[in-house]
Amino acid sequence: METTQEIVQAVQAAGVTGAGGAGFPTYVKLQAQAEVVIANGAECEPLTHVDKQLMLHHAPEVIAGLRAAMHSTGAARGILGVKGKYKEVIAKLRKALGDATDITIAELGNFYPAGDEQVLVYDVMGRVVPEGGLPIDVGCVVQNIETLYNIDAALHGRPVTEKFITVIGAVRQPVTVKVPIGIRLRDVLALAGGLTTPDPVILDGGAMMGNVVGDLDAPVTKRTKMLLVLPYDHQLSVKRRTPREIFDAHAIAACDQCYMCTDYCPRHAQGHAIQPHKLILLLASGVPLTDAQMAGAMLCCECRTCNYACPVHLSPGDIALNIKRDLVREGMKNPYHRTTEADPYRDYRRVPMTRLINRLDLAKYDVAAPLTAVSTPFTRVELLMRQHIGMPAWPVVKVGDVVKCGDLVGEITKGGLGAPVHASMDGVVVSVSNESIVIEAKEVG
Ligand code: SF4
Ligand code: SF4
Repeated sequence: METTQEIVQAVQAAGVTGAGGAGFPTYVKLQAQAEVVIANGAECEPLTHVDKQLMLHHAPEVIAGLRAAMHSTGAARGILGVKGKYKEVIAKLRKALGDATDITIAELGNFYPAGDEQVLVYDVMGRVVPEGGLPIDVGCVVQNIETLYNIDAALHGRPVTEKFITVIGAVRQPVTVKVPIGIRLRDVLALAGGLTTPDPVILDGGAMMGNVVGDLDAPVTKRTKMLLVLPYDHQLSVKRRTPREIFDAHAIAACDQCYMCTDYCPRHAQGHAIQPHKLILLLASGVPLTDAQMAGAMLCCECRTCNYACPVHLSPGDIALNIKRDLVREGMKNPYHRTTEADPYRDYRRVPMTRLINRLDLAKYDVAAPLTAVSTPFTRVELLMRQHIGMPAWPVVKVGDVVKCGDLVGEITKGGLGAPVHASMDGVVVSVSNESIVIEAKEVG
């Protein structure tokens, strides 16, 4: 087994980042000292199918990645957090674990947002992450399943050049595919047999936390996890197109301060000072954004659970996350750092996934999206220099250079937070800028 330093260096050099969507450079988490590493296999977003299929088809690699993370952080324990309903996945993991006692499986309920890392830490360990804190504050490191798979690959000398993505919704053949990073989103959609709606709205990241795709020629990044295709008039499409001023005006006019949004907020249930109903009250009163109560928005994890809870279909979650983003832009730091206790009624205020899917009118899209081999030969990739949290990478190749898949093309300044970028196909560099590098397929001698 490698030393901590060797694991950290290999993971850093391979450009591994949080594959659950956050994009945080993984080597940083592996430098912490932890009691336990939790593998996040909760598969949080409705209709996503990446993590369970990785566990089903690549259990040994995921477990090897988890062991490496445990070794690096000094954690004596590893826990695989998996929804209890995934019996086949759990059987595969048990088989791969054999007689091992250092790693156990925690069977999670089928709730949203089971994969929020603070929710996961509480469900698995019974520990509440402090306000504005991280799982490491209570001795835990949480890693996404695909990230663990990539950690194992890094230790075998393979940098991150591919991404697993579920394509689902209004498509002919819902699939989960492994594709080169940098191909166009429209090429990923084509792998699902084409769209079944003439005027689609595509959510990159899923129904609850995803963002509307504005440009189908945008490239796949290390953060792309799910493309949910919806008809233009689907309720989620309509909501996501609604301008902020309209959300705010509706809430100011129609919110009756019933408190349901706050009751169902998973961070409020941890005892944190986030109260979306109060944000609406403050919005209506015209109190300046820097008011201490407004700053409760800084504790919002942007899960939009409260939207589901609102009986009159307002969008308190969008209001909270917009206020949070405003405050972050203005340079405000979260003033809340209390250690809190979970609400004793927390478990009675959880959102069952099936009800959420029905409420969001997604039941007709709740189908399998099997991991399917891709035979399409891709001829062009665009590799963004910023696919992660931290500073962007800087190009280390020039136009005309011949590269092979896995070659370093974007580097990070020594000591800076970030992740290097690697060529995801053999070819020739045809364009270089501070934003991206384009490679086109050519015969490489
Ligand atoms: S989106 Fe809503 S439910 Fe989620 S953390 Fe923010 S306020 Fe709470
Ligand atoms: S649930 Fe809806 S109506 Fe009730 S307080 Fe929250 S935003 Fe207002």
